[in-house]
Amino acid sequence: MKERRGRIALLSEHASPLALLGGEDAGGQNVYVAELSRHLAACGYAVDVFTRRTGLSQPEVVNWRDGVRVIHLMAGPPLPLAKDALWPLMGDFRAALLRFIACEGSRYDVLHGNFWMAGLVAVDLQRWLSAPAVQVFHALGTTKRRHQPEHDTSPTVRIPLEREIVRRAACLIAQCPDERQELIEDYGADPERIVLIPSGVDIELFRPWPQSEARRRLGLPHEEALIVYVGRLLPRKDVRTVVRAVAALVHDYGYGREYPPLRLLVVGGETTEPDPQATPEIGILQQLAIELGVAEYVIFTGRRQPALLPLFYSAADVAVTTPWYEPFGLTPLEAMACARPVVASAVGGLTYTVANGETGLLVPPREPALLAARLHELLAAPHRRQRMGEAARRRVERRFTWRLTALRTAALYETLREARLGGTRADAGSSSQLAASYDTLLAGEVQTLWPW
Ligand code: UDP
Repeated sequence: MKERRGRIALLSEHASPLALLGGEDAGGQNVYVAELSRHLAACGYAVDVFTRRTGLSQPEVVNWRDGVRVIHLMAGPPLPLAKDALWPLMGDFRAALLRFIACEGSRYDVLHGNFWMAGLVAVDLQRWLSAPAVQVFHALGTTKRRHQPEHDTSPTVRIPLEREIVRRAACLIAQCPDERQELIEDYGADPERIVLIPSGVDIELFRPWPQSEARRRLGLPHEEALIVYVGRLLPRKDVRTVVRAVAALVHDYGYGREYPPLRLLVVGGETTEPDPQATPEIGILQQLAIELGVAEYVIFTGRRQPALLPLFYSAADVAVTTPWYEPFGLTPLEAMACARPVVASAVGGLTYTVANGETGLLVPPREPALLAARLHELLAAPHRRQRMGEAARRRVERRFTWRLTALRTAALYETLREARLGGTRADAGSSSQLAASYDTLLAGEVQTLWPW
C-alpha cells in the first residue's frame, strides 16, 4: 500500500457512503461521509469509514475507493433500523470497533465523529486510542426540539450527551455560522474549539445541462413552468408549504391561463416509485394537492440516485426548498451547481449558501403566500433566472466544493497533530491517561460515559 499522510477513522453509525439516498435516514450525512472520505484520500490520507452493518450480505470490509475502506460493524441485527432506534446498540458498535482495531493492530491519527451517537464513541475513545476526536453533528438535538417538539423521537439522553461531546471533543466542525452560534449558545461550546467548514458539491457531477435537453431526457414538456424539489420527504422539509404555494400560483396568479402551465416535481422518498405506503409524507402531500385542486400539477417521482439529479435540477426553472430548519442543506447547492436559482427558506445553512437576490431568493418558512410571490417573481423573469443561475454556479465553484471541504478538514487534522506534538492536550476533558494498550481496552477497563 502506498505511503499515506495519516490514517483517519470516520465514525458514522447510521449513514454509510454505500447507502441509496433519498429515504428517511439516508441523505446529507451519507453524502458528507462519502465525499469527504473520497477527497481526503485524494489529499493523501487513508480513511476507514466505520458504519453499522445493515445487511447479511455486507462484507465486513469493503475497499470502496483507493484509500477508503468502509467497515461494517456488527451492532444489533444486521437489518436496516431507524436511526432513533440505534442508541441502545451503540455499546456493541463501540465494542465491534475496538475488536476490529485490535485485530488489525491499526492506529489512527484522528477519530472523526458524525452525529451524536458515533460522536460519543469518538470522544470516549480518543485518549485510549491516543487520537483526538473531531466532531461534526450534522443536526443538533436542541434545534430539533425547538422546531418540531411533537416529532422529536430522539432518545432523551441525546442533548445531555451532545453537551458531553461538545465539552470533550478536541475540535468541533460547524457547517455554517448558524450552527456555530447554536453550539455556543445552546451547548456552551468554547468558540476557540469550533472551526467553520462548510460542506460542498461534486461540481463535476452537478453541472448545468441545457434545459431543453434535460426535459427531453426526462420526458417533460418544454413549455411548462417547472419548479423542482429534491430531498428527503419529511414533515420538517415542509413540502406542504410548496404545494400550498403552487395552489396560489394556479388559482390566484393564473398559471395555466395568463401564464404557462405549472408543474411541481417532487423527487425523493423511500422507493423509486412514489409509494404513499412506504413514504407517508407522499400520501399527505397528494391529499393536500387534491384538497387544493392542484393534484394534476404536483408530480412525485420517487427517489433518484445522484447520477440522475443534474437532469432534474437542469430541467427546472427554479429549485425550491422551504424547511422549517436546515442544519446545512446540500440540495440547494446542487441546484446552484446546475446553474439554477433557488428559492429557499431563510433558516440555518440556507442563509449562508443561498445569496439572497444574487443566486436565489430567501423567504420566511411556513409562508405559502410569500413563497408563491417569490416563485412568481422568478418564473416571470427568464433573464433574471439566467443571471442568478450563472452567479450560483460561480458561487459554488469558489466556495462550496468537496475538494475545499477536504482541504480545510485536512488543515484541521494537521493543526491537531501539531498541537499534540507540541504537547497540547487534545482531549479537553481527559486526564493524563493517554494511550492504553488494545488488550486493556478489550479487557473492558475503559472508563466510559456509557449507561451499560
Ligand atoms: N438525494 C438523492 N436522491 C433523492 C433525494 C435526495 O440523492 O431522491 C440526496 C440529495 O441529492 C442530497 C441529499 O440526498 O445530496 C440530501 O441532503 P440535504 O443536505 O439536502 O438534506 P438532508 O438529507 O441532510 O436533510
